[in-house]
Amino acid sequence: MTTQQPAIATPTKLFINGKWEDAASGKQFDTLNPATGKVLAQVAEADAADVDRAVLAARAAFESGPWASMAPADRGKLLWKIADLVEKNIDELARLETLDNGKPIFESRYVDLPFVVEVFQYYAGWATKIHGETVPVRGPFFNYTLREPVGVVGAIIPWNFPMLMASWKIAPALATGNTVVLKPAEQTPLTALRFAELCREAGLPDGALNVVPGFGPTAGGALVRHAGVDKIAFTGSTEVGKLIMREAAGTVKKVSLELGGKSPNIVFADADLDAAVKGAHIGIFYGKGEVCAAGSRLFVEQSIHDKFMEKLVDRANKTLPGDPLHPKTRLGALVSCEQRDKVLAYIESGKQEGAKLLAGGGAAKVEGMDGYFVQATVFDNVRPEMKIAREEIFGPVLSTLSFSSVDEAIEQANATSYGLAAAVWTSDVKKAHLTARKLKAGTVWVNTYNNYDPAMPFGGYKMSGFGRELGAHALELYTQIKSVWVNLG
Ligand code: NAP
Ligand code: MG
Repeated sequence: MTTQQPAIATPTKLFINGKWEDAASGKQFDTLNPATGKVLAQVAEADAADVDRAVLAARAAFESGPWASMAPADRGKLLWKIADLVEKNIDELARLETLDNGKPIFESRYVDLPFVVEVFQYYAGWATKIHGETVPVRGPFFNYTLREPVGVVGAIIPWNFPMLMASWKIAPALATGNTVVLKPAEQTPLTALRFAELCREAGLPDGALNVVPGFGPTAGGALVRHAGVDKIAFTGSTEVGKLIMREAAGTVKKVSLELGGKSPNIVFADADLDAAVKGAHIGIFYGKGEVCAAGSRLFVEQSIHDKFMEKLVDRANKTLPGDPLHPKTRLGALVSCEQRDKVLAYIESGKQEGAKLLAGGGAAKVEGMDGYFVQATVFDNVRPEMKIAREEIFGPVLSTLSFSSVDEAIEQANATSYGLAAAVWTSDVKKAHLTARKLKAGTVWVNTYNNYDPAMPFGGYKMSGFGRELGAHALELYTQIKSVWVNLG
């Protein structure tokens, strides 16, 4: 018996200038339910011609018409209304997200979607608080700055948190008066389309938000190269992030990148052991490990190693993959067959390179479902040079290393090209703060893991990207400053 229900009624066309349109080529692509491997829906496949139409619509809406002339307070109200409509339809959106992505309904219903609501509410408040400054200069001048929107924003997002990553970009972009063309990931286009329908219902003017599902090199590439796009906001792999920087150079677009990670989770011997075990577990198994900030490198202080690992393995063994729509499931299906195979290949490489497998270690079977499930996997005795210690796996696979001094822990933790997040577990306040300062990461959690808030900036150091999403900092990504000189002489 399974709780999967294949039938879905949700928009599957391109959303351009407030209307549902077929792709100019007439092409469509399948989106699958990764828990069953079955097709959920056929979605219109945008390419350069459709992206061009969407950008023109976004440009027109930015330059003139109801969106361009809307008072900030009304923009704020509109964003709040969008939040209300997401909340009103939260069960449907959460189910759609789970069907398309394979993540547990517990996560989409009680974490992702509520967070989307809060992000729109948070930026609704900012709409009326975007302002310039007056600047005292030498001479008979009255000088001031205007903080203006950048224009048309191209948002390119990944499949791991489809609706949430869309909200992190759309909400601040609209709050500051921009227009948006969103390209969702090919694996998970459905919630973005349903969301566009809700935006229309909320009264968002035509062209302010356009959604063009399609493939990275075609639809995504067209957006990055388009001369009518002023900024690209991207979340995804470091490899594609580099490509986007190169391609955006052609038109000198503003770019912000939120890329991968290999985040260290450091447990000192003086930590609250049970809390740290729980944190290590959530750090890697939440979201199936398909989380850019996943705590995929666990550093455990030598003196507590055995006791800690015993507790952690016990938890991992109890975390069985299950039907993502079942409310009790805590480990869903990986997003695609390719991702599952990629993760299984990393598990094999861990075994071959001599890491010690303590839990999981392969694909998992869930009764009645032919999906892409992988066991909660824990490796111990991992050495820094192993592939599973260096590369982002993006799956439920934990690599454990050990250390015997604070300096050694910090040095090893920082020995990566990534710098998205890190965590420290200790009861020593001094050690916690000093370590937090020394870790080269955009977010450091102390005695906690995977916390987020719309008011708290998020983004990477090093090759995890640049620019900060969320909080007041995200407003800078979507605005530019104009200096005005007025001669009073
Ligand atoms: P990805 O290839 O970087 O995809 C992210 C987005 O970029 C998708 O919408 C993708 O489109 C688009 N894209 C791909 N090639 C493009 C191009 N040449 N020009 C413009 N846009 C392009 O990531 P992925 O394949 O989904 O996942 C691969 C790896 O990336 C993961 O295993 C993980 O290591 C990392 N990742 C990181 C994050 C994060 O939050 N930092 C999120 C997801 C993945 P299509 O999907 O339609 O091709
Ligand atoms: Mg899908």
